[in-house]
Amino acid sequence: MSIRLNQLRTRLLAEQLQLQQQISDFLVAQANPDYQQLLLKLQQLPLPRWPEVLVHWHTPELRAPSQRLEAVQAALIQMEIGLYGICCDCEARIENERLDKDPAEQRCKSCERLSTNKAAHS
Ligand SMILES: [Zn+2]
Repeated sequence: MSIRLNQLRTRLLAEQLQLQQQISDFLVAQANPDYQQLLLKLQQLPLPRWPEVLVHWHTPELRAPSQRLEAVQAALIQMEIGLYGICCDCEARIENERLDKDPAEQRCKSCERLSTNKAAHS
């Protein structure tokens, strides 16, 4: 693995832990027993399985970090199987500066522009 890829991987791993902490901290602070149960459930699961449980929760405080967790984990898996840095729409290489900005980036610059336009017009 190249030094650059290794650095991106380190950033993704750190972010993954930080998101895990953020989700746990939120749940610990809630009095609602549903959240306490969710926390217990998560604690028994390996981190890669958290998003599939959290997807059923629409609490904004959980939604954002769990979607981000999913993206970070997808990027880590892509690194493992050698498909990291490939645009999910056109399969071109994603520009290095985009990956430096966000190591979990899934789209190249032109596809990003297309998808943003589409979203703006729909
Ligand atoms: Zn693309």
